Amino acid sequence: MSALVIPGSIYRELLAQARKQAPIEACGILGGRGDRVEVFCPMTNTDHSADHFLMEPAEQFKVVKSLRAAGQRVLAIHHSHPASPSRPSAEDIRLALTPDVLYTILSLQGPANPVLKAFAICEGVVTEHPLAIEA
Ligand SMILES: [Zn+2]
Repeated sequence: MSALVIPGSIYRELLAQARKQAPIEACGILGGRGDRVEVFCPMTNTDHSADHFLMEPAEQFKVVKSLRAAGQRVLAIHHSHPASPSRPSAEDIRLALTPDVLYTILSLQGPANPVLKAFAICEGVVTEHPLAIEA
């Protein structure tokens, strides 16, 4: 299983968004080709919640469409955990209905030590997926 590769510039975008949105969960879509993330599309958390997130379907559709037009696809659905560890919550698992994408979670639980992890979630079973963050 090859690692999902996240360029440093995109990792820094994820971090900036999560810190800006905290204590609300931030979310978005990581698009790219193969295993390599090429773009982060930040999305609105329409729940405005500190412990879950909901993407606006029309906004999500627009992102998926523009990725497709650029020859890219959705590699991961991303969100932040402002105050909890980087692992899917029971609700994250329940709402993970797309088996062919990964789920990335950026935890700010330790503000000086953010943790980004990727997971495959299939029919309620969570498997951590290798992640390579470039400098
Ligand atoms: Zn979550």
